[in-house]
Amino acid sequence: MKASLIPVDEAREAILSRIEAPNKSAKYSLIDSLNKVLAEDVYSNTDIPPADNSAMDGIVINFSDFHKLDSRIFEISSVIQAGDVPENLPVSCASRIYTGAVLPENADTVIPVEDCRFFFDESSGQECVEILVKPVEGNHVRPRGQDIKSGQKVFSRGNRLKPQDIGLLASLGLGEVLCQKPLKVGLVSTGNELLRPGEENKAGKIFNSNQFMLSALLHELGFEVLMFDVLADDLKQTQSVLLDIAKQCDCIISTGGVSVGGADFVKQALETVGELAIWRLAIKPGKPFVFGRIEGKPFFGLPGNPVAVFVTFSFLVKPALFKMLGVAESKQMEFLLPADFSVKANKTRQEYLRVSLEGSGENQKLRLFENQSSGVLSSLSYSDGLAIVPIGVEVKNGDKLRFIPYPVLNN
Ligand code: AMP
Ligand code: MG
Repeated sequence: MKASLIPVDEAREAILSRIEAPNKSAKYSLIDSLNKVLAEDVYSNTDIPPADNSAMDGIVINFSDFHKLDSRIFEISSVIQAGDVPENLPVSCASRIYTGAVLPENADTVIPVEDCRFFFDESSGQECVEILVKPVEGNHVRPRGQDIKSGQKVFSRGNRLKPQDIGLLASLGLGEVLCQKPLKVGLVSTGNELLRPGEENKAGKIFNSNQFMLSALLHELGFEVLMFDVLADDLKQTQSVLLDIAKQCDCIISTGGVSVGGADFVKQALETVGELAIWRLAIKPGKPFVFGRIEGKPFFGLPGNPVAVFVTFSFLVKPALFKMLGVAESKQMEFLLPADFSVKANKTRQEYLRVSLEGSGENQKLRLFENQSSGVLSSLSYSDGLAIVPIGVEVKNGDKLRFIPYPVLNN
């Protein structure tokens, strides 16, 4: 009997329910923590910024002095640069101040240099400033703690560190943070037809694109990748190599050999040396996807067609890997945009169409890449993202579709 197709969302939930969160953590320097997942909550023990400071180059005054004086002329008593510890302003004096410099205790208002006229007063022998525009009390001051307050929880465990997060951690003065250790992902492709890119081309063969695309996807996400030699279409070899990979890695991803052809041995190998949990999804492209365990390690058997590899990796493998890494919340950016095309309803599978954005603003529409074959890898390179068409839905020109730009699943 033909196995029924499992809806994508159901399959993802079923996979996630079989994935455990990690427990291997280590301290990493900030430089090495990009894309790693925090294994601890991070609190600040300081205010950021640590003191009220100037947002402009100009002068600083005590605002109440402005009303006390008959004129708008102040004597300049000092120059305060970023990094200085300023002294209090003498009564009715101003200081020159530069961006980032700490304000004197008794000063509260900065006047930008553009609103000042500096001159030397011969009679007093003093440098003076005339304030040309009436100042606003407290203006151009960055108050202490406006960014982060002392004692504040800055990040929670499970946060995957983006470049801006590394910056924020650095601003707290932290040199290192406790993160989950990277996962070791074993990557293998199956198929007698596969050549390694760089090898000489041969009749009847094609170059292995899947393993290299997956390796790049995984590296971009911060995983450690172990590349294994291509597997021949042979049950015994598939069984023994998959077992071997499972012993060396935290999880395994294979490509090809999961269909029902006479040379497809991956599912059979999984059933004999591990356990099969999920097979065949209501997804186009990517139907023959399998998931299970070998030696207790999650095993993802992706199809052979490159677009199917990309789609199943993005929507099924990536969320599972994030869970294995302890990511608390995965986010996917998506937009509802009108289609500039029509497609017939697919009665059994949810479709992931390669589309590009055309027009801008309110006129933005989705253009369909002309060749949607799952073997046409250029459809991914020459498009901006994927549009999702649910099972049984006919798309008519102007209908709004969920559009997910690359990279799918941002965090
Ligand atoms: P399979 O599921 O193994 O029958 O593969 C389906 C299609 O994908 C066949 O046309 C294969 O030649 C192709 N294919 C399989 N593996 C790869 C790979 N690693 N790189 C590029 N194409 C592949
Ligand atoms: Mg094959």
